[in-house]
Formats: sequence, C-alpha cells, structure tokens
Amino acid sequence: MNGRYGNFISGQEDFEGEELVLKSPADGTSIATVALATSEKTKEAIDAASEAFGKWSKTSLPERQALLLKLAERVQSRAEDYSQLESLNTGKTIRQSTLMDIPLGIEHIRYFATTKDFPISREIEHPEYPGTRGIVQYEPIGVVGAIAPWNVPFLMAVWKLAPPLLAGNTVVLKPSHYTPLTALELARDIKEAGFPDGVVNTLTGRGSTVGETLVSSPKVNMISFTGSTSTGEKLLSSSKGVKKFTLELGGKSPNIVFEDANLNKAVNGVLFGIYLNSGQLCESGSRLIVQASIREKFLSILKEKLEKMRAGNPLDMETDLSAITTAEQKKKIESMVDDGVKRGATMYYQKQIARVVPAGGMYYAPTLLTEVSNDIEIGREEVFGPVLVALDFEREDDALDIANDTAYGLAAGVWSKDLDKAKRIASRIEAGTVWVNEYHLLSAAAPRGGFKKSGIGRELGLEGMLEFTQTRHIFVNETGEIDDVAYGLVLSE
Ligand code: NAD
Repeated sequence: MNGRYGNFISGQEDFEGEELVLKSPADGTSIATVALATSEKTKEAIDAASEAFGKWSKTSLPERQALLLKLAERVQSRAEDYSQLESLNTGKTIRQSTLMDIPLGIEHIRYFATTKDFPISREIEHPEYPGTRGIVQYEPIGVVGAIAPWNVPFLMAVWKLAPPLLAGNTVVLKPSHYTPLTALELARDIKEAGFPDGVVNTLTGRGSTVGETLVSSPKVNMISFTGSTSTGEKLLSSSKGVKKFTLELGGKSPNIVFEDANLNKAVNGVLFGIYLNSGQLCESGSRLIVQASIREKFLSILKEKLEKMRAGNPLDMETDLSAITTAEQKKKIESMVDDGVKRGATMYYQKQIARVVPAGGMYYAPTLLTEVSNDIEIGREEVFGPVLVALDFEREDDALDIANDTAYGLAAGVWSKDLDKAKRIASRIEAGTVWVNEYHLLSAAAPRGGFKKSGIGRELGLEGMLEFTQTRHIFVNETGEIDDVAYGLVLSE
C-alpha cells in the first residue's frame, strides 16, 4: 500500500510537517507515511471547526443524517481497502477487520444516519405551575475535541464522529499517531460525501502536542476522550476553562462462569473475551472467575482449544491471533507477566508461537496465569494484551465479591443456563456493560462506558448521543394565571 497521508484542516489535506513512517506490527515493513500535526496546526483546525459550527449547527437533522448515510455508502463501497489498511496498521487479523471492525463501523454510521431516537425537543409539564408548559431543546455543544486510542481505530473514528455530527457539533479528531490510517481515509471520504469544510478536521499527532492543545483550548467546548485511565486522569487535571468531558477508559473485566453453564460455549466465550485482538480491547475479559467445582475441567478444555488457535501472519485469513500493535505495549505486557510470575502467579499455559509468526513482527504468546493474588499488579491492573488470569469461587456472593474487587468497572460476562440467576448477578456487577452468555458484542443502540475508574459518560445509544448536546428549557406561561401569586412575593399591589 505505502500511502502518504496529510492532516485534514477545513477540507484540505495538508502535508506540511514532520513525516512519520508507520511500520507494520506484523513484520516491521514500512506501510505509510503521515505528516505529524503541530500545536499550530491544531489551533488552525480548531479555528476551522469553530467557524464551521455556525452554519453546521443550523442545518436540519435530516440534512445531517443524509450526509452520514452518504458516508456509510461510500465507505461500504471501499470496505475491503479499509479492512486491509486497518490490519496493516494495527496488526489485527484480517479476519477480524473484514468480518467485524469495518462492517460494524459502517453499520454504526448507518445507525446514526437513520435513527429516529435523537430528540430535537420535547414538551414537559411543570407540576408546580399549572397553566405553564416547558419546551426542552437539545442543542449542540460546539467544537468537540475527540481523542482516540490505537486499538480499534476505525470503530473509534466512527464513534467519535457520527454521534457529535448528528447532534450538530463540529469535530477535531485526533486518532492515535500509531494507527491513524483508517481515520485519515475516512477524512478523505467525509470530503467526498459532501460534508462542508471544517465540520470534521482530522489530525495525526502526539498527545503532548495535538492532544494537549485540544484540551487546553478555550475554543474547544467538549473533549470526548478514549484511552487509558492514567491519561484520562491527567486530562482532567490539566484542562483549562470550562468544558465538558466524557472519558472512556481502561478495564479489568471479569468473566464469571457458573457450574451450570454450557461449558463448551462458555470456554469459547472466555477465549473470545480475552484473545480477540490479542486482548488489546478495553472490555477484554481478562479475569476468568470460574466456579471451583468445574475449575479443572474448564481450564483443561480452555487449554486444549487455545492450543489449536492459529498464530501466524495477521494478513492471512486463517490466522486467529493478532499481533501486538506497538513496541511499548509489547514491553508492558512482558514486564507485567514477568513481574506476576515473580510474585507467585503460576504460568498454567503459554502458547508456543515464535516459529510460526513473521520475523520482525511484534507478538506476545497467549498466556493463562493461575494462583494470581488480587494484591499484585497483574491481578488488579489492565494488561491490554493476551493474558488471562484465572480465579475461582465457591458461592454466588463470592463470585460477585471477586468481580467487584477492582478499581475498574467497564464490562463483565456471566455464564449460566439459569437466566434468572445470571440476570440477578449481572445487575449486581459494577460495570457499564454486562453480557449474559455472550461477550464483546456491541450495538450502536446500547450505551457503553464505565463505572468507577473506567470512565465518565457514555458512548453510543441514546445516552451517547445526548452527551453531545446541551439542553435549553423554554418556560412558557400560556394563561398568565400564576403571575399574581408569584409576583405577589415582591409586588404587594
Ligand atoms: P493512551 O491513554 O496512551 O492514549 C489515548 C489517546 O490520548 C491517544 O490519542 C494519545 O495520543 C492521547 N494522549 C496521550 N497523552 C495525552 C495528553 N496529555 N493530552 C491529550 N491527549 C493525550 O491510550 P492508548 O495506549 O492509546 O490506548 C489503550 C487504552 O485505551 C487502554 O487503557 C484501553 O482500555 C483504553 N480504551 C478504552 C476504551 C473504552 O471505550 N473504554 C476503548 C478502547 C481503548
């Protein structure tokens, strides 16, 4: 492929700036060059978004939805290019890009392009004041600074653009400088679809330049951030002025398996939960909590299936396991696992992959650790890699105690044939998404986000759309009848 990409400011692709050569995580070869944006370029993009807001915010909802639909159709016609590029840039398997990330992203643009759920306004009664009515209007907020991580770049770009645009905001999107390619392709298609210049501006850059400029700019009215909990905390403390924040952060999600679960399905669900994208997903089910009575049997089936999963070149449609996207991430995984083993965790199984993956690539062998204490880092902190820790429990309440004994609260899974029990447990787990006999499946109609250190606010669904709005309440006295009572408080005649 070897494309050359610039930054999109006010509808123009701008190639000025330091060139960054992106390398394939799968084998280390060069795949593209991108121009890194500076703080100055970021300010230009913010000005463009600010200027475009005036007209864009006054367009009608059907006009905005028509453009989103055009975009969905355009991306659909190039879905294969997007899948190739996504896998080249991230090292995720081409099967995952082709069958999940890209089609799901297109479906999500289409969802926001056609949803009837976005409220323009609603009427209310004021129970205290008969004879009056209220109109609540949902207005856009202004310029949204959208900051994304490197793990699911296309889906992330869609989630960071479609809902705020639908609500009438303009956006400056900063994909991660490790994986900006599909967001930059999307920027090209946004122009082709006919969005007015400046409504979407896409900049590749580092957190310390583009990211910090977005967060500190008084012209940016909202930051929609997805990334690690530590960066999210830093953003909140470094923000200047008054702006809204939504933060989608990290997780250490439990996957609870009861003895009455369909074992085969639960094993598949647990493997899917942790090894999809090689564990580099915020909601990865990284803590298996299995009922003690089935522990041995469950772990042995799990190991057997893991042995059969195929490592190899991610661009091969047969490969099951993704590469690790960045060298820094690979080092972090290695050091967390080494430290865990030093502190008493047992290496129950680690797959041998060295001989089958391409030389020059970045890979980490799927790993299963047991005897992991919750006091050590690998038991408590997000690894963001293909590392599962297995814990066990005797009674329902113990499962819940272990599941909730974490600072995070992003997602969880519950596996049981007894749906009443599973739903009862699900509603006591402190997490923004809980799957019952399922994992990872995302719907554009459902809000996602975190409890506790996993975030503030929601993305997707009605709740996610409303995050990009501010309300105006118009209080109308239709009859004039209450004036005498109210005004009598200060006017005696
Ligand atoms: P990260 O926090 O290092 O970076 C995220 C983004 O923030 C990047 O674009 C980065 O350049 C930018 N950034 C870094 N420092 C910044 C600063 N000072 N000011 C402004 N922007 C700054 O995260 P990452 O390593 O790219 O992604 C992995 C993390 O993302 C994991 O913790 C994962 O759980 C989380 N994640 C969460 C969700 C979710 O929906 N909750 C989804 C995907 C990933």
